[in-house]
Amino acid sequence: MITVLFAAADRAWPSYETVLPAALAEAGLDATVLRETDRPEDVDYIVYAPNGTLTDFTPYTNLKAVFSLWAGVEKIVGNTTITCPLCRLVDPSLAQGMTEWVVGQVLRHHLGLDRYIKRDSRDWDQVTPPLASQRKVTILGIGELGAASARALRALGFDVHGWSNSQKAIDGVTCHAGAGGLEPALSGAEIVVLLLPDAPGTQNVINADTLAHLAQGAVIINPGRGPLIDDDALIDALNSGQLSHATLDVFRQEPLPQDHPFWSHAGVTITPHVASETRPFSAAKVIAENMRRAEAGEPLMHVVDRERGY
Ligand code: NDP
Repeated sequence: MITVLFAAADRAWPSYETVLPAALAEAGLDATVLRETDRPEDVDYIVYAPNGTLTDFTPYTNLKAVFSLWAGVEKIVGNTTITCPLCRLVDPSLAQGMTEWVVGQVLRHHLGLDRYIKRDSRDWDQVTPPLASQRKVTILGIGELGAASARALRALGFDVHGWSNSQKAIDGVTCHAGAGGLEPALSGAEIVVLLLPDAPGTQNVINADTLAHLAQGAVIINPGRGPLIDDDALIDALNSGQLSHATLDVFRQEPLPQDHPFWSHAGVTITPHVASETRPFSAAKVIAENMRRAEAGEPLMHVVDRERGY
């Protein structure tokens, strides 16, 4: 019998109450799932999101692993009381949701749909967009979510470029890597999607210098994390026309403060961190499979590299 503690916001529990025990049973595990315990030394695994009350893992002296319910772990990696392996969420449903959101946002700007949605005159303004193959779309961060989005955009014919730490190979996608790969990835790009983690090497990757490499009137789409962007540089680029629009799902401070200039800027679309939600039915299966591996002595999947920060 293993003991699993579910430690996330109270509001998350109803959607896991049934699916998590069911997924653990389906994985062949004899498990008890608790919401709280006065015997922390008995807990084997913690299913975790940092929006709950748990921050000190010290009492959980026999913990074998912590499983994050989120893909982004920037609020967890620095927790020095976690001394066992920390696994982030890599889940096909999360990738599918992100791909759908990214493709939708790219097509909005590629096709110039706002022109018709925001129609304020009776002009018969016929504007032919370029074909997707004539449009360079760059994805910064081609890990689980970025690579899935890159493949979908490539399938639509876009000239897709990607950028990552280590060199990747994705069919039909021009892959750039490392510090020297950033400029060629961004050079002349008309649409840039940010799917990097918030880690020491990625903060302010979108700044005045990097924005200058983009095509005039480019669009930034950020479902990654707020600190990837220097907010002031973004606003300057929108005001100068270097950028024509920014669609932002994530922010340095969430909810975005009421007085933040993004709210009133005509060139900014704000979505409230909804690009891709964790789907409990799917996440529970991924976590159960990882727990099964741990119990069988097999290597864990998706272990976070604390040094790298993701
Ligand atoms: P991955 O870890 O799979 O991918 C991260 C990518 O970023 C990798 O390609 C990695 O390169 C690259 N990278 C990291 N640091 C650098 C760097 N310094 N220079 C160049 N490339 C770098 O993460 P996911 O794809 O699963 O998730 C990405 C992010 O998406 C999450 O961290 C989270 O912030 C965000 N997210 C947002 C959601 C939303 O609803 N808005 C939902 C879910 C996630 P390499 O592969 O070589 O290591």
